[in-house]
Amino acid sequence: MLTIGAHLSSSKGYLDMGKTATSIGANTFQFFTRNPRGGSAKPIDKNDTDAFNQYAKENGFGRILAHAPYTLNPCSANEATREFAFMVMKDDLARLEYTPGQMYNFHPGSHVGQGIDVGIELICQLLNSVITKDTTTDVLLETMSGKGSEVGSRFEELRRIIDNVELSGKMGVCIDTCHVFDAGYDIVNNLDGVLEEFDKIIGLDRLKAIHINDTMNPYSSHKDRHQKIGSGFIGVEAFERIVNHPALKDKPFFLETPNELEGYKAEIAMLRGLCR
Ligand code: FE
Ligand code: FE
Ligand code: ZN
Repeated sequence: MLTIGAHLSSSKGYLDMGKTATSIGANTFQFFTRNPRGGSAKPIDKNDTDAFNQYAKENGFGRILAHAPYTLNPCSANEATREFAFMVMKDDLARLEYTPGQMYNFHPGSHVGQGIDVGIELICQLLNSVITKDTTTDVLLETMSGKGSEVGSRFEELRRIIDNVELSGKMGVCIDTCHVFDAGYDIVNNLDGVLEEFDKIIGLDRLKAIHINDTMNPYSSHKDRHQKIGSGFIGVEAFERIVNHPALKDKPFFLETPNELEGYKAEIAMLRGLCR
């Protein structure tokens, strides 16, 4: 069975997200660890995380995906911004130990003119200062669309980051279908080729999650605007190949399409219906 979820609001806690996921036909979910624009996080309620851990086990949930705030920029030229990224990631990873063994996804960041080499070095410095041997969470680099000076729109860049993390066994990758298509990986006409390239450069064993989104913009546009499944330039037929691909079908999928809960519910049912 397809493991699929959607991006949910975390305002009422973990158990509420679990029950909301069930109500829309999902068996996992994604959420922001705190306000997407950063700021302080709600304190962890251990009763809630314990209840969720039990609920997830009883209901056969796949691993859940925590998403770092998208303002977090580990490779900013500004030291205060990098310090903020450090504080947020360290705190997020500590909090995630209340739901052990799950996944944490972040955008590698924008090097803002410092160049890709400096960008990668700063990202690795951060990862090496927050991941410890006791971290049970897999830390995922998200594939980016390559707008502005974003790091991580090429598989080679993600490989270089992983190679320079001391505890690289805890590192993985989340492919975002909108982002990779925008970045110039043609998952519509050459899904096999893109996945072979991913396997050769990074290794499919590092692929831990997929953000399943259509895109508002044509191939290689470097824009990053998500669209509802089937209403964008990727299209339903390509998504049918994606959810059935042997290299992908057993990985967890997460919708980040512009939808309310009812829209997510319909997309989950539609994607489940495409599974052979
Ligand atoms: Fe993201
Ligand atoms: Fe994404
Ligand atoms: Zn995006």
